Amino acid sequence: SGISSFKTAAKKSTAQPTLSSYVTNNGKKNVVILGSGWGGISFLQHIDESKYNVTLISPRPHFLFTPLLPSTPVGTVDEKSIIEPVVNFAVKKTKGNVSYYEAQATKINHVDNTVTIKSFSHVNPFGSSKNADSIKKNDSADIKYDYLITAVGAEPNTFGIPGVQEHGMFLKEIEHSPKIRKQFIENIEKANLLPKGDPERKRLLTLVVVGGGPTGVETAGELQDYVDQDLKKFLPSIAEEVQIHLVEALPVILNMFESKLTSYAQKVLEQTSIKLHLKTAVSEVKEKYLVAKTKISDTETKSEEIPYGTLIWATGNKPRTIVTDLIKEIPEQEGSRRGLLVDETLKVKGLNNVYAIGDNAVAGLAPTAQVAHQEAEYLTKVFNKNQIGSAKPFKYLHYGALAYLGAEKAIANITYGKRQLYTGGGVITFYIWRLLYLSMIISWRSRFKVMSDWFKLALFKRDFFK
Ligand code: FAD
Ligand code: MG
Ligand code: MG
Ligand code: MG
Ligand code: MG
Repeated sequence: SGISSFKTAAKKSTAQPTLSSYVTNNGKKNVVILGSGWGGISFLQHIDESKYNVTLISPRPHFLFTPLLPSTPVGTVDEKSIIEPVVNFAVKKTKGNVSYYEAQATKINHVDNTVTIKSFSHVNPFGSSKNADSIKKNDSADIKYDYLITAVGAEPNTFGIPGVQEHGMFLKEIEHSPKIRKQFIENIEKANLLPKGDPERKRLLTLVVVGGGPTGVETAGELQDYVDQDLKKFLPSIAEEVQIHLVEALPVILNMFESKLTSYAQKVLEQTSIKLHLKTAVSEVKEKYLVAKTKISDTETKSEEIPYGTLIWATGNKPRTIVTDLIKEIPEQEGSRRGLLVDETLKVKGLNNVYAIGDNAVAGLAPTAQVAHQEAEYLTKVFNKNQIGSAKPFKYLHYGALAYLGAEKAIANITYGKRQLYTGGGVITFYIWRLLYLSMIISWRSRFKVMSDWFKLALFKRDFFK
């Protein structure tokens, strides 16, 4: 078939197992993982492949270290530094059969215990995708599982607000990053041809970031860093006209932090000239402006039109179709809107052999990499120790939260469960932020590349090219 696949085989086994012999029972149970993100790759890393046949299915041939994604559009960190090919993880699994299908799972057939996969044209974020031609469209296959681990994550939610899908840009996958950079560069180029005071010039140089969570704040901070540290050096008159807006529906940004840290964060953003719009909801997006409604009192709202050149939408996620389709078929999942309901052992309610981890699961926890990673670690322990069905409940240990604000300042609240180990904001916290992010990166190649990107930044301007 045209589905591209990758296999490692046990080093000592004499016969290379073929796809068909793999799908048929070879005595070991088949564990199928959906997704190559925090949940899926962490599961792959920790599962004992000598005990199970392991198959990973994901349309995305790489893992993405999302915490540093806000650093890539402006080139603080290079895109290739924060992705790691799935095969690099798979080749380390030498004690058993591990397969990777670069394909999208389109349906979970929970009665037959199979997953339908469809091949698709892979979009290469770094140029034209030549090898996509070799993948035939509409090739499909059913992969049999004994246990299914679904970790497909979630997708950006536009909340049905008109115009967001057409005119907004997301920052969720690596391919979003060069798109944002390209648009900002093109707007700078166009603005530079217009005279000062021209409203079109002002519009082109306006960036609106919607969503005051860590992603929105870090993205706004990184954009402002580029403007203040690099753009200012060669286009000072353009740099001083760039205006970044940060829009948040709640009365505070970064609401997962204590109020002392959030007010510090707001102060830093305002000092770097980012305009904050709190208690503000975007109600409509047009090609060249958006409508923002600010709550002034319980009964009054003020409506404002903000002309923009670049709009970045970072407000939260909703479940993917493969998940909502499954929910509709299981009575125990009825009415679940945020994802698959799981029991305390992360088993999908209403099914016997399907588990959900990460953003596609509703376990009452925040949708974070931290949670997805710990859930994967827990579940692999259960599988590796043959405790399926008799496992102790999953317990989450909170290590705190971190956010970069721009201008080499960050806030951090580092915990060990309920114990607080460090809380603070400023330049020292920024270096703590860098160290902790480095330690969280799950491959040495990636860690090395990020470190060298930061080192390079100390000597040169950011790589801000189309
Ligand atoms: P993902 O990591 O999103 O992985 C989902 C995978 O499933 C992907 O490989 C995708 O291609 C694949 N997939 C999708 N559809 C299908 C399908 N039909 N079939 C098969 N595979 C499919 N969390 C933190 O804890 N700290 C942070 O600092 C932080 N920063 C973030 C910054 C940004 C910009 C973003 C977007 C998120 C950030 N998060 C952070 C959140 C964190 O990334 C997510 O909670 C985490 O990725 C969830 O892991 P997951 O495995 O559920 O989903
Ligand atoms: Mg995943
Ligand atoms: Mg991920
Ligand atoms: Mg998930
Ligand atoms: Mg993600």
